[in-house]
Amino acid sequence: MDYQIKSVKFLKSEVDYKKCPADRLPEVAFIGRSNVGKSSLINTLANHKDLAKTSSKPGKTQTMHHYEVDKRWYLVDLPGYGYASISKSMREKWEKMIDNYLRYRKNLQSVFVLVDIRLEPQELDINFINKLGEMGMPFSLVFTKADKIGKNKGAVSVRNFCRKLMETWEDLPPFFVCSSVDGRGKQELLDYIDQINEYSYNQKKQEKE
Ligand code: GDP
Repeated sequence: MDYQIKSVKFLKSEVDYKKCPADRLPEVAFIGRSNVGKSSLINTLANHKDLAKTSSKPGKTQTMHHYEVDKRWYLVDLPGYGYASISKSMREKWEKMIDNYLRYRKNLQSVFVLVDIRLEPQELDINFINKLGEMGMPFSLVFTKADKIGKNKGAVSVRNFCRKLMETWEDLPPFFVCSSVDGRGKQELLDYIDQINEYSYNQKKQEKE
């Protein structure tokens, strides 16, 4: 517990899951609508100012960024969805890339879906979450920008989102309420990632025995 990231090394930007770094370490991935606060959250988790570049421009090739953390796990920054100005062919490319990555990346343990806490449940987010659920991919929700909204309003927003999910799913995923401005949620998220990695290492050990 109280896990803190000590070292982060950028490894690679890729569009093809087959060319991602060797799958020898467990990995978790972050995704969400553009502008949701993904880069800020990754920088906050890593105690870094500009590890993940904030707001990559729509229209540019969208790539998956791999970082090696503490020589123990990979953090993956997946390109965001929901750019208004993106072309249909780019959207299709994105879908294919993400779909392949989610289906075939063997060492992927869990996906963190970021959602802006101030918004009503958005169809794009719900669709993406439903897809993860259908794939059987473990995921969690990260409500971002919690400093921008009062505690009560935030709680209502989270409840609304959970209600929406319960229209489709029986079980709710773990969720975290975070802010990159005041740092709330950071320790819980880091400890959860640490647990995921610990579990993955234990599984591997058992397989060997
Ligand atoms: P990305 O496109 O998902 O990577 O989003 P960014 O991290 O670039 O953030 C988009 C905008 O939201 C930027 O102007 C950030 O400064 C702002 N932002 C991100 N996270 C937070 C947060 O937790 N609180 C507040 N108040 N602003 C945030």
